[in-house]
Amino acid sequence: MQNLENLLKIDRDSIWHPYTALASELPVYHVDSADGVRLKLSDGRELIDGMSSWWSVIHGYNQPEINKALEQQLKSMAHVMFGGLTHTPAIELTEQLLAITPEALDAVFYSDSGSVSVEVAMKMAIQYWQAKGAPQRQKFISLRHAYHGDTFGAMSVCDPETGMHSLFADAMPKQVFIEQPQCRFGEACTEEDMAPLKQALIGQSGHVAALIMEPIVQGAGGMWFYSADYLKQARELCSEHNVLLILDEVATGFGRTGKLFACEHADVVPDIMCVGKALTGGYLSLAATLSSKEIHQTIDNGDPGVFMHGPTFMANPLACTAALTSIRILLASNWQENIRRIQQGLEQGLQPCKELTQVSDVRVLGGIGVVELNEPVDMKTTIPQFVEAGVWVRPFGKLVYLMPPYIIEDNDLKLLTDAIVKIISAL
Ligand SMILES: *Cc1c(COP(=O)(O)O)cnc(C)c1O
Repeated sequence: MQNLENLLKIDRDSIWHPYTALASELPVYHVDSADGVRLKLSDGRELIDGMSSWWSVIHGYNQPEINKALEQQLKSMAHVMFGGLTHTPAIELTEQLLAITPEALDAVFYSDSGSVSVEVAMKMAIQYWQAKGAPQRQKFISLRHAYHGDTFGAMSVCDPETGMHSLFADAMPKQVFIEQPQCRFGEACTEEDMAPLKQALIGQSGHVAALIMEPIVQGAGGMWFYSADYLKQARELCSEHNVLLILDEVATGFGRTGKLFACEHADVVPDIMCVGKALTGGYLSLAATLSSKEIHQTIDNGDPGVFMHGPTFMANPLACTAALTSIRILLASNWQENIRRIQQGLEQGLQPCKELTQVSDVRVLGGIGVVELNEPVDMKTTIPQFVEAGVWVRPFGKLVYLMPPYIIEDNDLKLLTDAIVKIISAL
């Protein structure tokens, strides 16, 4: 193997990292292996993972049961096309997904990533209205500070400013944006809170296909937790105004907020739902778009009689096996108790941040802890400080946040929150 310095030079010269310039001064760390909640760097250091590799690694790294299931699946087949062919991992995963998601959802479309699952959801909504004889319904209502992915359709429903819509102005569909819900999680909503959505729905004159939202937690667009009441009323308003509801559970799905799916906080059933990220326990890239019977039957009975999408790696058997095993592990575990315990640890551990003048808000929901600062964090200096402290925490903008694997033990969780308190205090 080449020496580390050489490898890192190739990385710096020739590989793009997410939202990072090639010649960036931001440090990039070479990971040798990972186990449980620990990332092992090539220089021998070990970091406690506070990110679950962006919400996904809920059972920790190198999970023995998922490893074993994948090794076994590998012996029968790594991949086979899904056009005209099928396999047990996809079928069993579908059975499992339909059993744990809201009952009205009864068909699954597999794709490779959360962004594509959102594209698929948006296309489903448009095709649905087309089949219903309302082809003018092609717009989407979305919330400011939303994040739904990086491809064009998904990007068009992301926050216009953080999504930099002006860069792509002529290439991207223009959607209808409304204010982010101001009512916090745990609070009720006022008429005033609902007014922007109500107005958008009243003013849509039949051009809107669906409202798309991240239920309860707006993730990458600002880590904001909003009232379940808002979600409940949004569902009612959509039904009243004959607009579909797409819930993007890509970040919130599989227990992170304390419910298996965040829509359960409001007892709300979407017409279309997206899942991804934690779906495979962070092993492989897989996402799914679930739809109600009304949606898929209408599409299939309309013109051209099929849903117009079909990824090459649709329902990859290895990915489906990882997902099926991950969900089984989750359901067999005491995940609610784990999330409650993590929530408590985050609340206690981050409490001292509330006293700091550089902090504007501290909020915790389920396995998510957020410290919002008054000023953006300088990642170039802060990330190395976290690494120095033995933890993997990657802030963005004014947000320093944690969403550790569900298996994290109390002492490791405390090391994460202590590091945040210490490093923010010194800012
Ligand atoms: C991450 C995310 C996506 C995009 O998923 P990718 O797998 O990165 O394409 C979509 N929606 C939400 C809510 C997300 O958090």
